[in-house]
Formats: sequence, structure tokens, C-alpha cells
Amino acid sequence: MDSGYEYRPREVVKDVTQEFRLGEGRISAYLSVTLGVLSVLSVLAYLYPSYLTTTDLRKAYDGEQLQHVLKYGMYASLLFGMLTFVLNRAAYKKLGLIGVGLTLVAFALGGYSVPVGDVEPRELSLGVDWLVLAFLGSTLIFMTLEKLFPKYSDQLILRPEWSVDLFYFCFNHLAISAILIFANYQASHFDWALSPAVQDAVRATPVLLQVVLIVLCADFVLYWEHRLYHEVQLLWPIHAVHHSVENIDWLAGSRGHFVQVFSERALVMVPLYLLGADEAALNIYVVFAALQAVLIHCNVAIPFGPIKYLLVTPQFHHWHHSSEKPALDTNYGAHTVLFDRLFGTYHMPKDLWPAFYGTTTPLPRSVIGQLLYPVTANRQRWARKRRKRSQTD
Ligand SMILES: [Zn+2]
Ligand SMILES: [Zn+2]
Repeated sequence: MDSGYEYRPREVVKDVTQEFRLGEGRISAYLSVTLGVLSVLSVLAYLYPSYLTTTDLRKAYDGEQLQHVLKYGMYASLLFGMLTFVLNRAAYKKLGLIGVGLTLVAFALGGYSVPVGDVEPRELSLGVDWLVLAFLGSTLIFMTLEKLFPKYSDQLILRPEWSVDLFYFCFNHLAISAILIFANYQASHFDWALSPAVQDAVRATPVLLQVVLIVLCADFVLYWEHRLYHEVQLLWPIHAVHHSVENIDWLAGSRGHFVQVFSERALVMVPLYLLGADEAALNIYVVFAALQAVLIHCNVAIPFGPIKYLLVTPQFHHWHHSSEKPALDTNYGAHTVLFDRLFGTYHMPKDLWPAFYGTTTPLPRSVIGQLLYPVTANRQRWARKRRKRSQTD
């Protein structure tokens, strides 16, 4: 910790033009459009399950049961759409109309009564089911937490660049099967390290112990992967995309260059593959990792008590996103704080939180600019190097 550094509280200015207030029609307009989009996507997933659903995820839900949820969602979209007309604000009536229109399209496509049958599994598909379920689950759990325990209550749901991060959220979920195919393929290169004796020993331990083992091994790999992204100049611009977000909340964690998203999954798959733990332990780990990855970005000030000295919490990971000098290149852990403690990169100044987030060099604000940033940033760096060399020659 930098003892000479003067920490300041973060100032969040509430943008009242983006606020959701009861009775204005904005809440119902956004709900109507969101549910309308989700309805169309869901109906399409029911119509073309082998192209638009995820093989692994299909085992975890009952398609017929979820059609009831779809039914309520569709009627709710119509209801909220009509409510915008009752509340009668021109700007939101237009959105309400779009929401109703989308839901009518969902009805026209077959609505909630598309027959659910056997699915011919395809290796590569779009994870529309994963996107819809993760979006519903995340908004329900994490937005509720952010409303109940906000760290910054003036930071709004529609904070700057929310739509950029929503794009990343959609991309990451739709690409799930491509990510898993890539990750499994990369892990298979480690066949030479497989040891039946190790796997038998792992499986002989109780499931909870197996989970702890997976968490520690995955965290070790993720710690070093993360640290390399920060410390190797060539790699930093890829990871800088994740750091370019300046208002951190549940959605902000989705921002990440696709190279990072793919490589991270591939690397973490290696220890999971080699350990050969029971499926129950793997499933617990996957759920834990998915929830923790979102939670640590949330705008929440939940008192975690002694857990914060063990596991990565929002305060810990928010410091990782800080652009303040003492916090740069610290807190790499994904699951636990252990390896940051061990390798000297732990930064938790008591109960303080960062005042500033983002990168010290600003990144492009558009998705395309961020996609190309690893190329543009490295080209600029090499050009600077060449100039320096020619000046010294
Ligand atoms: Zn980082
Ligand atoms: Zn992060």
C-alpha cells in the first residue's frame, strides 16, 4: 500500500435525465421493450433449438416449464407497453409501441405454444437460451442487490456506456458454445499431463473439498493469466478493454475483448480437465464462478465480514479497476485473495473504495474501436519505439 497517497471518496453525479422515476412511463417503456426482445428471442429458440440453444444448458432446464415464464413475460410486455400510453409521454409511447410490436411478432411466430420436442444436438450453436436466462437471472439477482445495498446510490442503471456493456453481455452469452469448443480443444493439448492416480485421489475426496481444490487451482491459473495480461506490453491492450469501463456495476464485468474471453476460458479449462473432479463438484464451481464474476463488479456495499480476507469481493475487485496509482496492477485474483497475498499484489486500504476507475490512457469508446484497440495501440507503441531509436541513432 502507498502510505503517502491521499485517498478520496468517489463523487458520483446523478444524471437525472437518465433516471427511472415512477409514473413517467420510462420504466414501463424499458420493461416492455426488454420483455418484447426476450420474448422474440425465446420463441426463436423454441423454433430452432438445434441452432439457438446450448447443448449443456438444455439439460439444466425444462423447456415446457419455461414456456409458462415466457407466457407471463409476453403478457407483461403488452401490459407495460399499454401503460406507456396511459402515462402519455411522447418519448416513451414510441418505445412502448416497439415493445408491443415485438411481442406481437413473438405471438405471430408461435408464442408460448411452440411444441417442445427432441433436439438434434449441434456442436456449434448460438446460446440464445443462455443469453435470455442469464439476463433474467442477472437482472433479478444483481440489480436487486444493487438497489438494496448500493455503494453509490446516485449511480444509475442507465449509467454512461451501459449499451456498450450490454453488447458485450450479449456477445459473450451468444458465443458460449464457440467458447466451450475452443476451451475444450485447447485443454486437450494437455493430455500428456493427465494422471489417473491424481484423478482417482481427487475423486476420493468429499465433493466440497473437490470444489475447494478446483477453486484454488483455477484461481492460480487465472491469477497468472491476468497478471500476464497486465505486465506483458503486447497483451495489455487486449485486457485494457475490460479496464476501460469507468462506472462499475453488474453489467460492467461483461466488457472484455473476445481474445481475452476465449483465452481465459481455455486456460481455466486446463486445471478442470486435469483434476477430473466429480460432475457435482464441477457444477458447483461453475455456478460459484459465474455468480462471483458478476458480483465482484456490482455497485454494492454488502458487509462481507471476514469473507473479504478469503474471497474476492466487490471492494477488492473495484480496487483492481481503479486508475489510482497505488492500485495499478494489483488484486489479480478471480476467486480468492490468496495468490495476491502470496505474490505481493494485494491492495485493500481498509474500508476505502476507489475514487476513479478506468485506464490511465483512454481507450476508444465504441465497440469497434475497442475490438481494434490491441492492433492500434501496439502499432502506436512500435512507431514510438522506432522514432525513439531513430532519434538516438
Ligand atoms: Zn485486470
Ligand atoms: Zn473486472
